[in-house]
Amino acid sequence: MRNSDDYDYQYKIVIIGDSGVGKTNIMTQFTRGEFSEETKTTVGVEFANKQLVIDDKIIKAQLWDTAGQERYRAIISSYYKGASGALIVFDITKQSTFDNVDRWMKEIQESTSNDISIILVGNKSDLRHLRQISSDVSSSYASKHKIAFLETSAKDGSNVHQAFNQLINEIHSKN
Ligand code: GDP
Ligand code: MG
Repeated sequence: MRNSDDYDYQYKIVIIGDSGVGKTNIMTQFTRGEFSEETKTTVGVEFANKQLVIDDKIIKAQLWDTAGQERYRAIISSYYKGASGALIVFDITKQSTFDNVDRWMKEIQESTSNDISIILVGNKSDLRHLRQISSDVSSSYASKHKIAFLETSAKDGSNVHQAFNQLINEIHSKN
C-alpha cells in the first residue's frame, strides 16, 4: 500500500502574469474546482499541490501562485528557484496584460538557468464578447517563442486541466 503522500516525481510550477488576470482562480479551479468572483489580493506566496498519474507514476505538482510578486521584486530569485515549469497568464479582454507577456518571458529567462517548460495561457475565455486579443495573435506569439498556448476560463473551468496537463506532460517528458 502506498500512502497518499507518496509520489515518484515532484515538479515545481510557477504561475505568473499581471495582477487581475486570474492566476489565483486558475490555481483554485485546478486544485479544488473552486472559482471566486471577488479579487483577493494574494499575500506573500501561496502554494497548492495536485497529484496526477502519468505512465503509472505518481506526479506531485507543486504550484506557486505569485502573490503580490507583481510588487515584491526582491523575492524573484527564490520564487523561480528550482521551477520546472511556468504558466504565463494574460487576460484576453485586456491588451496591456498581453503586451506584458514579453516582460514575464524575460524575467523567466533571467531568473532560471534550467530548461524550464512554459505554457502561455489566455484566460477569461468565457468573456468572448469583450475580447481584445485574437487567438491567432497569441498563438503566433507562442509558436515564435516555441512555447505552448491555450485559452482557459477559470470561471467555467474550460481548458484549465488541459493547460496544466499539457505543461506537466512536457516537463515529465524531459525527465
Ligand atoms: P490574479 O490577480 O491574477 O490572481 O487574479 P484573480 O484570480 O484574483 O482574478 C481577478 C478577477 O478576475 C477576479 O474578480 C476573478 O473573479 C476574475 N476572473 C478570474 N478568472 C476569470 C475567468 O476565467 N473569467 C471571468 N469572467 N472572470 C475571471
Ligand atoms: Mg492572485
